[in-house]
Amino acid sequence: MRLVLLGPPGAGKGTQASRLAEGLGIPHIATGDILRGNVADGTPLGREAKAFMDRGDLVPDDVINRMVAARLDEDDAEGGFILDGYPRTVPQALELEGSLRDRGTPLDAVLRFVIAEEELVRRVSGRAQEEGRSDDSADVLRNRLQEYRSKTVPLESFYAERRLLRDVDALGDVDEVARRARATLDDRRGGGAL
Ligand code: ADP
Repeated sequence: MRLVLLGPPGAGKGTQASRLAEGLGIPHIATGDILRGNVADGTPLGREAKAFMDRGDLVPDDVINRMVAARLDEDDAEGGFILDGYPRTVPQALELEGSLRDRGTPLDAVLRFVIAEEELVRRVSGRAQEEGRSDDSADVLRNRLQEYRSKTVPLESFYAERRLLRDVDALGDVDEVARRARATLDDRRGGGAL
């Protein structure tokens, strides 16, 4: 199964993506994690991305597109994958669509994790304390949400037009949201509504 997860920072996409990936036996590809790994290792990619990430700005599309294309070429992604944090802009979505079309392996679904903004701010400030991520401060979070609204929200209609978008209510505990996400995928596979 080839999936994309959409949702604002703090919606719990990462946690749900790793659960789903484990259950489905496919890799969880989180662009934020790959970027943070490169920053930590001081690679050329990490050096290029760091300033954007620290401000809460998106890293330029061409950089991200190359990084994801290389990851999708690895053997473990052959039988499917869960993309978490990519695409985040319409040009990225077009790039992904084109490269999957070339391989004859289109997406199966896009899960959108839906949550109120007050809850996001609450969750991310908790995470800032626990994990010490440099982009979880209040100002940077505001910018990440702004980037999300202006550049990522347009992907919702992009994927709705392609009949791939499925909503998952992201309010609730981790197990409950995980059950909803699985049910949404199972419905789709059973040929249910939509
Ligand atoms: P979150 O969804 O919690 O904001 P991520 O870990 O997915 O965080 O991403 C952290 C940062 O990495 C983003 O704010 C951005 O700078 C960069 N990034 C991750 N994925 C992308 C992408 N697809 N396009 C551009 N920048 C990205």
